[in-house]
Amino acid sequence: MPSTHPPQQLFLRGSLITLRRKCGKPNCHCSKGKPHQTPALSYSFHGKTKILTLREKDLTEVQQALARYRRALLSIETKAQRGIRTLSIRIQREKGGLSREN
Ligand SMILES: [Zn+2]
Repeated sequence: MPSTHPPQQLFLRGSLITLRRKCGKPNCHCSKGKPHQTPALSYSFHGKTKILTLREKDLTEVQQALARYRRALLSIETKAQRGIRTLSIRIQREKGGLSREN
């Protein structure tokens, strides 16, 4: 068994947002109009919007995983449309009788 695993190819649904907050310390830059900024993934789960806070080092992977999900979604949608067309053609042919088949 290899001791190292290749990085898992994540799929992520949602959108990247930036959380801004004040920590409450009076001398912090956030009290002077520069809030702390944290990247986060906003996503829906069972109809509710959820937030997963991220670290800066997660950003590249998250962006790639979001793009991977969008590509996969597009791909499965294309396949589904092709499936509908194939089934529709088959039904039309079979309605027309065996004589029209190849
Ligand atoms: Zn602060």
